[in-house]
Amino acid sequence: KSVVFWMRMHDLRIVDSRGLTIAYEYAKEHNIPLIIIHVFSPQDYEAHDRSCRRIDFVLRKLKSLKEELEEMNIPLYTFTVEQRQHIPQKVIDFVKQYNSKHLYGNIEYEIDELFRDMQLINLANEQEVEVQLEHDNMVVPPFKVLTKTTSKPPMTFTAYLKGWQKIVLEDPTHRDETERIGANNISAKEDYKALFEKQVPDEIAGFECHDKDKMRELWPVGRTTASEILDRFLHYKNREEATESTPLGEGAEKDDRNSRIKQYADGRNITTGETTSKISPYLASGQISVRQCFNRAQKLKSGYNMDITRESGVGMWSQEVIWKDFYQNVLCVQPRVSMGHPFLRQYRFVEWEYNQEHLDAWHQGKTGWPIVDAAMRQLTTTGWMHNRMRMTVASYLCKDLMLDWREGERIFAKELIDHDLGSNNGGWQWSAGTGTDAQPYFRIFNPISQSQKADPSGEYIHHWLPELRDIKPPALFEPSKHLSKNEFQKLNYPKPLVDHKFARDRALSRYKKALGKE
Ligand code: FAD
Repeated sequence: KSVVFWMRMHDLRIVDSRGLTIAYEYAKEHNIPLIIIHVFSPQDYEAHDRSCRRIDFVLRKLKSLKEELEEMNIPLYTFTVEQRQHIPQKVIDFVKQYNSKHLYGNIEYEIDELFRDMQLINLANEQEVEVQLEHDNMVVPPFKVLTKTTSKPPMTFTAYLKGWQKIVLEDPTHRDETERIGANNISAKEDYKALFEKQVPDEIAGFECHDKDKMRELWPVGRTTASEILDRFLHYKNREEATESTPLGEGAEKDDRNSRIKQYADGRNITTGETTSKISPYLASGQISVRQCFNRAQKLKSGYNMDITRESGVGMWSQEVIWKDFYQNVLCVQPRVSMGHPFLRQYRFVEWEYNQEHLDAWHQGKTGWPIVDAAMRQLTTTGWMHNRMRMTVASYLCKDLMLDWREGERIFAKELIDHDLGSNNGGWQWSAGTGTDAQPYFRIFNPISQSQKADPSGEYIHHWLPELRDIKPPALFEPSKHLSKNEFQKLNYPKPLVDHKFARDRALSRYKKALGKE
């Protein structure tokens, strides 16, 4: 007999995983072994535009987990199912093969995954296997936060935050973390030899990561890496020391008072240096839980019961973490947003441009707007982009180039190492004006003022666009306008694809038209 836990690609950890803890405790109580499985599905990756970088990141973490679990006598067994519709049956077959009647997991809230799990439960019922799936991926499970007046899920972040806070204060168990699981009690390890012996593959065919070495350097994985990255952000003042190739920072100075989180309220919109935590790849893949992040930040607060105000670094950062819950909640309440539908239905008739050349130029960082190009090159080179830059390039794609936000969403999914369906979709829809922004379509980012705010010294642009190295702000922010024709030509840098003023007027007119106002 045994108990099986199905670890999915959003919960790659053995500390504070609710489903895993329950599975472990059941195994311990009944003195039977716990087996952990993970299923690869190339067809599923294809359908969900999964990035090769993300798959590589998952494989690396699974390898590290396998090693760690082996020391605890727990097998981590991975296998591939080519046709994704067969996944539920293959999982049940495995459970039966190992003489188990209990399958545990954490809920994945994305619609395809929910349908898959419904099928799994149906099959399990027929074959006398009990399936138990836990809410784990959010601090407050979906559908719980409701507005006072309508008793419906709130559709703006401010209202959600209020409801979220009330629930967590009334029932602090939402913040409870579960402990690291313990070792397996397997007397006959021989029976599980095949499971222990099968190694996690280095690659999944069709999803080979072309810049593996770089990704390994930028986004290391290990038993405690995610926790250390968070620790650096919470307790160390390491803006200078941490570099792109050493996200943990070396020789950083421990300084709780001036740690990066303490400076977050003022510094978070600056793109140079290490102003944010860069924990997103680890959070999106569940190498650290959202509860752990929230709780550890809150330990630094002073004077409040729970600090989620915008006045302090701790409060501000905690709010950002709650944005993740918010967008996940939107995805659950309105699953159509993940099927290409605008959150605000009235924007479904916006007339988009279809221009492959412009889309490619945007993707490659060749739009002629330095701040946009620098950010896109950061994305394509590192798999990550600063939040303010994500908003800037997304606004540029939708409102300046007037390209469909779904194109941008897809390119982000394929490039990002931290891709998260809820946050990515939410971020794109917010930027396109079709989402949960209280001030929708008329918010249009100006690339010049964004450069002034996010990169006043021009350091970020210089780093990513070395061809502009010798140009200083303000000319750096719009070189085609400030330099002579001759000087500009020598740069070998493109002219802006579109004029911002023209683009702004076009966007306003298209959006108004879609709303029937013009
Ligand atoms: P920090 O500022 O340190 O914040 C800590 C954590 O809070 C983040 O790791 C993240 O989990 C959460 N968070 C912060 N801001 C947001 C936000 N606006 N929405 C949701 N969660 C947030 N985030 C992803 O994790 N995956 C994505 O695929 C993704 N796509 C995005 C696409 C667009 C167009 C936009 C505008 C934003 C997107 N974001 C996404 C949100 C945000 O940009 C990143 O979470 C953030 O930049 C990650 O860096 P960090 O860990 O240093 O963030």
